[in-house]
Amino acid sequence: MPKYKEPLFRPPAEADSMIFQVSHGCPHNTCCFCGMYKGIPHSIRSQEEVLAEFEEYAEIYPQTRRIFLADGDVMALPFETLRMYLDHLNTVFPFLARVNVYSNGSSILQKSASQLRELRKLKLTTLYMGLESGAQQLLDLVNKKENVRDMIKAVNLAQDEGFRCSVMILIGLGGRKFSSLHAVNTALALNAMQPRLLSALRFVEVPNTTMFDEYETLPEYDGVIELRRIISRLELNKTVFRANHTSNPVPLEGRFPHDKEKLISILTEQLESGQLDHKGPGITPLFL
Ligand code: SF4
Repeated sequence: MPKYKEPLFRPPAEADSMIFQVSHGCPHNTCCFCGMYKGIPHSIRSQEEVLAEFEEYAEIYPQTRRIFLADGDVMALPFETLRMYLDHLNTVFPFLARVNVYSNGSSILQKSASQLRELRKLKLTTLYMGLESGAQQLLDLVNKKENVRDMIKAVNLAQDEGFRCSVMILIGLGGRKFSSLHAVNTALALNAMQPRLLSALRFVEVPNTTMFDEYETLPEYDGVIELRRIISRLELNKTVFRANHTSNPVPLEGRFPHDKEKLISILTEQLESGQLDHKGPGITPLFL
């Protein structure tokens, strides 16, 4: 693998992908709940350096099929840069099947439909997008500079052009006070998006996160109620759902619409088991 500038993040599904860092950090870096790139100034690597790295690793691993381009919101790169990188990857990796990136909704909308089509033809495939919450009031409170309506538009546009959008939501982001608002609006936004992939992660306060004043950690039990509220409101036609990240107290996996009732009963069973923490956040995830 290439030499990385730490920290390096990738979605769990990219564990087997070849990763190239075409930029460092996140071009936004304002979300108070996210400690991923705090203190890391955003920078874009020189194109010569990146292209040379593609060539070097194509010689060592010519069989590579899956590539992930890091770091945060690589979709924010100018269209011409993305096209040139994808073009080059297609040339030097003869077995390339897909290239995936983190992407904010606003960065998708900066591209026209025909530009998106072109990137898709060059095997850009899965766009990982953090919706976090469908409640605009909450996104504003956590300083995520994205608009819910625009994120819905972005996912619809990208999926119309053949992309797979993998959307992430954060259970407990609103704490006790906004749990209900968060659940109701997140389900509404997801129903309007119809993402092909959906992941629910539990929000955990990590170093470098500073939540809004009224924030009060959601106990584990209430987090499971929140997730059940969201799932019971979801009307998804064709979505693979995962809540099996180490942060989740109840690991879940299924397909919508087929597994909806099963997912709800697993959560109900857990809520009735007496094993969930009513006072504290529950187990500490493995990454902490
Ligand atoms: S949540 Fe995404 S957009 Fe916000 S600071 Fe973290 S990486 Fe950047």
